[in-house]
Amino acid sequence: MIKNVAVIGAGTMGNGIAHVFAQFGYNVSLIDLSQDSLDKGLKTIEKNLDRMVSKEKISEQDKKDTLGRLSTYTETSKGVDGVDLVVEAATENVDLKLKIFKQLDEITPDNVILATNTSSISITKIAAVTNRPDKVIGMHFMNPVPVMKLVEIIRGYSTSDDVTKMIMDTSKSLNKVPVEVNDYPGFVANRILMPMINEAIISLHEGVAGVEEIDTVMKLGMAHPMGPLQLADFIGLDVCLAILEVLQEGLGNQKYAPCPLLVNMVTAGKMGVKSGEGFYDWSHGTKDLVVAENFKK
Ligand code: NAD
Repeated sequence: MIKNVAVIGAGTMGNGIAHVFAQFGYNVSLIDLSQDSLDKGLKTIEKNLDRMVSKEKISEQDKKDTLGRLSTYTETSKGVDGVDLVVEAATENVDLKLKIFKQLDEITPDNVILATNTSSISITKIAAVTNRPDKVIGMHFMNPVPVMKLVEIIRGYSTSDDVTKMIMDTSKSLNKVPVEVNDYPGFVANRILMPMINEAIISLHEGVAGVEEIDTVMKLGMAHPMGPLQLADFIGLDVCLAILEVLQEGLGNQKYAPCPLLVNMVTAGKMGVKSGEGFYDWSHGTKDLVVAENFKK
């Protein structure tokens, strides 16, 4: 039975993951490198809980109880003390993740399940630096975590049936819908999503159509809630680039090669919403869609 959970990383995904575990009754230790990052994460959780209260999805008491189940740590060894499950949601960097899992394997008892929210790094590779590859698993939440129903559950080469079942059941207890997939580059979500986003950027780059036109075709023509270029801005263009590189290398196929325009934008520091500019100008917030200066006709 999982009751106590540690979440590593209080960024975009980590604070959302901590939020849902705490909301559904788990005690959560949120861990990040600095108190500042933790405070920002907590602030986001509070803001999102307030929104749920105002929409009458939860009560004021639920909000209080959720916050009461959260504690924060800057020291990993203290944060993971007594937990049954660790969900790692630190920066997407393979060396960093291998270092974190090596450390987690050393400092937690053998029975603790070690999950990662990685978007693209091999679960099998992460599991291989531990002495418990049967208990390492991918738990890929979608952004924004409190809203999105899907959790992609990724079985590494050695992940056991018991651990997979436990994580599927735990995901259901968070009112999510888990889907089990195998460990190949991009898993399912990004293997299909990223080539679509890349193709949208290539279409823009080749002048097939402008930013608004491409997004409108996909929104109104395919009933996507958001166009691929807007979605790329929300995900982060650096993240999209990194995942495409993993697909290209891991699957050995040039069809995944990132569009040169995407590479240029990331090099120029245009990362989308988080940097204030991508295909759209986000300097005034995320309410209005304003095409970025570079793409205005
Ligand atoms: P982010 O940059 O918003 O947050 C990462 C956090 O990790 C930062 O607060 C950073 O300080 C912290 N961190 C870095 N090293 C750490 C360490 N050693 N110990 C503790 N904390 C550490 O990143 P994010 O977008 O939340 O992504 C986190 C993970 O989730 C990545 O693996 C990413 O691929 C995955 N993911 C992201 C999305 C998305 O839409 N952003 C969606 C699904 C999965």
